[in-house]
Amino acid sequence: MIELTDLQQRFREYVPDVDLRFGQPLRNHTSFRIGGNAEIMAFPKNADDLRELLITSAILDCKPVILGAGTNVLAPDEGITGIVICLKDAFDGIEMVDDCCIRCMAGVTMTRAAVFAANHGLTGMEFAHGIPGTVGGGVYMNAGAYGGEISQICESVQVMDLQGNVRTLDKDELDFSYRHSILTKTNDIIISAVFRLQPGNVYDIRSKMKDLMSRRTASQPLDMPSAGSAFKRPEGYYAAALIEQAGLKGLRVGGAEVSCKHAGFIVNTGGASANDVKTLIQQVIDRVYTDFGVTLEPEIRLW
Ligand SMILES: Cc1cc2nc3c(=O)[nH]c(=O)nc-3n(C[C@H](O)[C@H](O)[C@H](O)COP(=O)(O)OP(=O)(O)OC[C@H]3O[C@@H](n4cnc5c(N)ncnc54)[C@H](O)[C@@H]3O)c2cc1C
Repeated sequence: MIELTDLQQRFREYVPDVDLRFGQPLRNHTSFRIGGNAEIMAFPKNADDLRELLITSAILDCKPVILGAGTNVLAPDEGITGIVICLKDAFDGIEMVDDCCIRCMAGVTMTRAAVFAANHGLTGMEFAHGIPGTVGGGVYMNAGAYGGEISQICESVQVMDLQGNVRTLDKDELDFSYRHSILTKTNDIIISAVFRLQPGNVYDIRSKMKDLMSRRTASQPLDMPSAGSAFKRPEGYYAAALIEQAGLKGLRVGGAEVSCKHAGFIVNTGGASANDVKTLIQQVIDRVYTDFGVTLEPEIRLW
C-alpha cells in the first residue's frame, strides 16, 4: 500500500466527504497530455465542497491551484506539490434564469452551455460551441472565437474567495478585454456565470454552430494534443501568420512541434515534456522578434 504524505492524510481527515485522489498524473487532466503528478486532486461537486476545501487549504497553509478542463494550461513535468481543485464536470448544472438568460456552473463545458442555449432557441453563444474548456476557464480568460467572446454575453459571475465567501460580480466589475478578465489578477474562484442571449431560430443557431465547427476542423490540428492557440494575437498582426512567415511551421523541440496545419498551435507529437514546450515557445518568440520586431506573448497558462 502507498504511504500517504502528511498533507494527503490531513486533507482526507478534514474533508472526508469530498472526492480526493492522490498522485494523479496531470497529463490525464490536460489537453496537452503533459504534466507530472498532483499530490492531491479534489473534485468538489458544489459550493459547500469547494468552501470546505478552501478553508482546509487555508488551515494547512497550502494555496490551491484551480483547474477547469485543462485546455489552456501547461502543467509542470515535476507535477504539483499541494492541492489541485478540478471543477470540470463535477461542478455541474445549467438553468434558465429568465427567457433570455442562462446560469451555468463553472464546471460545465462551453460546448454543453452552447448546446443548451441552442436547444432553448437562444442565439449569441454559437462561438463558444467548439471551445473545449469549461465556463469557469472561459470567463477567467474571456475566451472567444470567430468574432464572439465571453465578455459580449456575460452578465454576472459568482465567485468564492479563498476564505469561502461568495459574492457576485457584475459585468462592469469584470474588466474584460482581449483574453483577460479581472479574475486573472485575483485569487477568486468562479462558481457560476450568467449569460444574456437573444431569442433566435433554432435551425439558424444550429447551422451556425455546425459551420463554425467545420471551419475549426479544417484549420486546426484537432487530432493532436495541444492547448489551443499558443500565443495571443499581437496588436495589428496575427500570431500564426508571423510564425508561418518566419518559416517556423514544423519546428521541433523534443516531442513539441509548431503545428504544420496551423502555425499558431504547438502540438505534442508524443512524449513532449513541459520543458520542450517552454523551450519551443521561447524559440518562436525570439525568431518572430528578430524577423518582425513583434513580441509574442503566450496565451497558454504556463504553470
Ligand atoms: C483544440 C483547442 C482549441 C481551442 N480554441 C480556443 C478558441 O477558439 N478560443 C479560446 O479563447 N480558447 C481556445 N482554446 C483554449 C481553451 O479551451 C480556453 O482558454 C478555455 O477557456 C480554457 O478553459 P478550461 O476550463 O480548459 O481552463 P483551464 O485550462 O483548466 O484553466 C485555464 C486557467 O483558468 C483558470 N481557471 C479555470 N477554471 C477556473 C475557475 N472556475 N475559477 C478561477 N479560475 C479558473 C485556471 O486556474 C487556469 O489559470 C482552445 C484549446 C484547445 C485545446
